[in-house]
Amino acid sequence: MLKLPIYLDHNATTPCDPRVLEAMLPYFTDRFGNAASRNHSFGWQAEEAVELAREQVANLIGAESKEIVFTSGATESDNLALKGVFETYASKGNHIITALTEHRAVMDTTKHIEKQGGDLTFLDVQPDGLIDLGALEAAIKPGTILISLMYANNETGVIQPITEIGRIAKKHGIIFFTDGTQAAGKIRVDVNKDGIDLMAFSAHKIYGPKGIGALYVRRRDPRVKLHPQMDGGGHERGMRSGTLNVPGIVGFGKACELSSMEMDADARRISVLRDKLERALSGLDETYVNGNREKRLPQVSNISFRYAEGQALLMGLTKEIAVSSGSACTSASMEPSHVLKAMGLSDELAHSSIRFALGRFTTEPEIDYAIGKVISTVNSLRENVKY
Ligand SMILES: *Cc1c(COP(=O)(O)O)cnc(C)c1O
Repeated sequence: MLKLPIYLDHNATTPCDPRVLEAMLPYFTDRFGNAASRNHSFGWQAEEAVELAREQVANLIGAESKEIVFTSGATESDNLALKGVFETYASKGNHIITALTEHRAVMDTTKHIEKQGGDLTFLDVQPDGLIDLGALEAAIKPGTILISLMYANNETGVIQPITEIGRIAKKHGIIFFTDGTQAAGKIRVDVNKDGIDLMAFSAHKIYGPKGIGALYVRRRDPRVKLHPQMDGGGHERGMRSGTLNVPGIVGFGKACELSSMEMDADARRISVLRDKLERALSGLDETYVNGNREKRLPQVSNISFRYAEGQALLMGLTKEIAVSSGSACTSASMEPSHVLKAMGLSDELAHSSIRFALGRFTTEPEIDYAIGKVISTVNSLRENVKY
């Protein structure tokens, strides 16, 4: 039996994998120690668990465990990377290059830095969502201290040419930060092969718990220094003070271990379902898939349904299938997605867009049901529109 509503919003968050939850549970009760307590076994036990998790997290991205700083999530990691570099490298310059399609956690942080005297370049993207490497290199100037470009986009799944970006950054001696929240655990990420110096990612996007994430901070060639954004007991090598969230960290570690082992098989299975959904919905008239179809995460499809009014479309779907739209609700109005707008979509088409994000536990009957529901909803909305 199919259970409704069907969850197709895995880029917003994922359920905790039962194996992750099981690994976490003892650290709420029996093994409740503070990982910074050096004088007794409660502390040692917690520290040991944290260090195992640190290795599991590092292994997922080809890093060393000492290069992992635990935070409360990718938003905090984004803030620490951007503000930390801006403050630490002020004597070298104040110019940061980023793009118009970044996640709000990067976008709003760079806007904040701009107000603090930062010199920001926001690169445009091409209609398929990819940045232009020539434009990136042309934007570099003597005072450029940081390139901040996301690995894979949360709305479209589009994967940027990270290795080439890393090479350009290295050639000019500029630090390269990437928000890897959607990429880590879904596709193979290797900070050394990719030339990444700083990377943010988060447990709850990869079947781990909410409220725990990490920042990868390169220690060699170059050794990246970051001004902390949280002062206190000097945890996490001084970069992020505060008692460690031991159960969260244990769960994050387990989630990374599972993703390392299962991501290839998951990606194959999920992309088959995604392609089935996409093929069926593309059969509708005036329907467009947004973003580069090859350089894309396996689980997501962002589709515009012209002449199906956005608000009505979402209302028609979300009782039975949980999806996100190409709009963000602000207090009073609907703002069209800044990502889709940057790719050249009109406000109207951006509003009529739906993000389908499948996950580890998505089944074929769920996709078959979703196909039927979307087709009937779009057709009935269009009945009254002449086109
Ligand atoms: C979800 C997400 C974030 C925010 O992560 P949190 O851990 O929820 O703070 C940042 N960047 C991207 C690309 C995301 O998808």
